[in-house]
Amino acid sequence: MDEKPIKRRGLLLVLSSPSGAGKTTLSRLLIESDPDISMSVSATTRAPRPGEEEGLHYFFVSPDQFERSRDQGDYLEHAEVFGHYYATPKAPVDAALAEGRDVLFDIDWQGTQQLSEARRGDVVRVFILPPSGAELERRLRMRAQDSEDVVRKRMSKAESEISHWAEYDYVVTNFNVDAALSQIRSILAAERLRRERQPGLSAFVKTLFPGSE
Ligand code: 5GP
Repeated sequence: MDEKPIKRRGLLLVLSSPSGAGKTTLSRLLIESDPDISMSVSATTRAPRPGEEEGLHYFFVSPDQFERSRDQGDYLEHAEVFGHYYATPKAPVDAALAEGRDVLFDIDWQGTQQLSEARRGDVVRVFILPPSGAELERRLRMRAQDSEDVVRKRMSKAESEISHWAEYDYVVTNFNVDAALSQIRSILAAERLRRERQPGLSAFVKTLFPGSE
């Protein structure tokens, strides 16, 4: 049978969570297992860390370049985090949407709000919760190996990020990575099938009855 895929529009999948809930691992596994979704590469004014590559982890720009691009409207959203600027470049996102490819965003609740306003209808928001407070603290402690004070600060930052869970379309609790990944993949599969994301449907339905007008 001659099976041509029905043309679809891409979507913008946002995964937000406090650090320590497993978001980075889930993002990586999702990208590795699905060729139709790729990670959005942000622009930043901070210096590259060892091992970070231009265009792969970030686009590293000067503060002047950043301001010029922002004023020209080249960014979909932007934020200042710890004294540096971060932004999502607009052009690659719109190209992906038009070509029927999906883009994954690892941004916080503020970036999510701006992105939703800029590209309403294209954004699917997923919040990832940790399995318990004790497990979240254990993960932050393991990662930090820092003083009590630093761990307390991280817990308080996590609490403020989690307070925005109700602004998301879906909430996945990461009891176990395989189950959480499978739930995110189900969300993606269903959202890709939304009628409004399949602009090729009218043409396809016409081909079902070639004789009739
Ligand atoms: P880092 O400098 O450690 O890579 O990132 C610092 C923070 O900036 C993280 O919380 C990350 O989520 C946030 N961030 C990275 N890129 C963007 C972006 O394009 N937009 C927004 N709003 N935040 C970003």
